[in-house]
Amino acid sequence: MEEEKKNNFLEEIIEADLAAGKYDSIITRFPPEPNGYLHLGHAKSLCINFGLAQKYGGKTNLRYDDTNPTKEDVEYVDAIKEDIKWLGFQWAEERYASDYFDQLYEWAEQLIQRGLAYVDDQTLEEIRANRGTVETPGTDSPWRNRSVEENLRLFREMKAGKYPDGAKVLRAKIDMAHPNMMFRDPILYRIKHAHHHRTGDKWCIYPMYDYTHGQCDSIEHITHSICTLEFDIHRPLYDWFIETLGIYPSHQYEFARLNLTYTLMSKRKLLELVEKGFVSGWDDPRMPTLCGVRRRGYTPEALKLFCDRIGVSKRDQLMDISGLEACVRQDLNERSNRYMVVYDDPIKLTLTNWEPGRVEWFEAPLNPADPEGAKRRIPFTGELLIDRADFMEDAPKKYFRLRPGGEVRLKYTYIVKCEEVVKDADGKVVELRCTYDPMTHPQSGQWRSVKGTIHWVSTAFAKEIECRIYDRLFTLADMSQVPEDKDYKDFLNPESLVVRPGWAEPALLDDPGDIAVQFERVGYFKKDPDSTPEKLVMNKTTSLKDSFKL
Ligand code: ATP
Ligand code: MG
Repeated sequence: MEEEKKNNFLEEIIEADLAAGKYDSIITRFPPEPNGYLHLGHAKSLCINFGLAQKYGGKTNLRYDDTNPTKEDVEYVDAIKEDIKWLGFQWAEERYASDYFDQLYEWAEQLIQRGLAYVDDQTLEEIRANRGTVETPGTDSPWRNRSVEENLRLFREMKAGKYPDGAKVLRAKIDMAHPNMMFRDPILYRIKHAHHHRTGDKWCIYPMYDYTHGQCDSIEHITHSICTLEFDIHRPLYDWFIETLGIYPSHQYEFARLNLTYTLMSKRKLLELVEKGFVSGWDDPRMPTLCGVRRRGYTPEALKLFCDRIGVSKRDQLMDISGLEACVRQDLNERSNRYMVVYDDPIKLTLTNWEPGRVEWFEAPLNPADPEGAKRRIPFTGELLIDRADFMEDAPKKYFRLRPGGEVRLKYTYIVKCEEVVKDADGKVVELRCTYDPMTHPQSGQWRSVKGTIHWVSTAFAKEIECRIYDRLFTLADMSQVPEDKDYKDFLNPESLVVRPGWAEPALLDDPGDIAVQFERVGYFKKDPDSTPEKLVMNKTTSLKDSFKL
């Protein structure tokens, strides 16, 4: 599945760095905050970070950005690891920003001693109000000129738990008139009396993102710290901390985040959908989470193919989700086992010239890409079910499926002719009485062809299953354009999940179920964990063709 590609801008940078001898080898990192499950956007970040390290013989650390104890949880820590492994990536080291809390604290005291940080008693609102605007400079805090001794004492008292949440913060003392607002005395530490999932109750002050991220990169000797574009205004501050502290010079580079049509990827909103029951959980097959798309039947190979195709850009754009679905189809088309399933509202098809009680078994490849590979056995009898869409009473000329008096091949078996149409009192077609042509057995050597081939199952052998048919979770293509007077939940698609009965050829029940299967002529379906020995539950992964309309 490899496609020829020219280097992206990150590859250019890394190749230049390596050619210049700047590094012996590169180290990247993936830095999730453990406050939710990974989603398709994270898959792109993972592909970039792990992909670059693989390509250039380097390594990638997994580093949890766990500086916000109230929103974080070990449930997320574990799920994130599982998702990364599922994608097929292996991190070199598992680290946590909280591993470095002691070091970060020591550096903060160092900044205080050098007159580069102070304890501020203003409230967060006051601090925000006094920051000024892009046009106007900020106002110095009345606490900005505390002595080193006083700052040290207060900061130690903050650490010791003497003050309540919000009473004080530690700020860097840089420049309240700096053109980059990030430099207007950024907050380094805030007080938060909260239990941390790793450090327990050791800390009641926690470092801010900007004060944490670059130093963590530096401690791990990350050579290329790759993040999304919105962090480009943070980069000068990232560099400032590293230069001021005189530590290992990691560098930050930014790429455009992945945005997909009909999809939301904010963890906060995904959490709300879960908590309010709009979806069945983080792994609901309609969710853009990695556990959701996995349950849906998307494969790691398809996600990687997609990330590779869309490439790495420096400009934000909205990608069409059908591009991802095309990758899923391409991968599953090559690898999935085939079965015949009729679902929803089938029509009974009876063969009037079939000997009553006779069963004939046909063989077909599980995967047509491997005709010599494993086979499945399909029972054929005189009473069958076909898809309602495969029959039309007043069919146009170009309709090649079944019509009154017309012929069609029942896939892998005989050609049948529709002799009589039986309807119920409401005029609904309930049965097609047909005859089969025994001369048209595929191995008869007297091959005769007809234009249409349709799928079918034998009523006597069919296994009833549950089909969960999914559609887009949202009806708005660009979910960043939700109007002011509306909420994103107003765009939930009420038909995003429809449950239908299905009737499957018996071999489906023996499928290992590790990868989605193809229901021939219908689409790809993945076995759901809700399946029981009595009833198979199948999630529709995607249709065979792109047929989306809204
Ligand atoms: P959210 O805003 O949904 O909470 P986040 O960016 O805060 O997402 P993190 O856990 O902090 O999530 O992200 C881990 C890494 O994944 C970061 O490097 C982040 O830049 C990257 N990432 C997150 N969302 C996307 C996306 N949509 N496309 C590409 N990379 C992303
Ligand atoms: Mg984040």
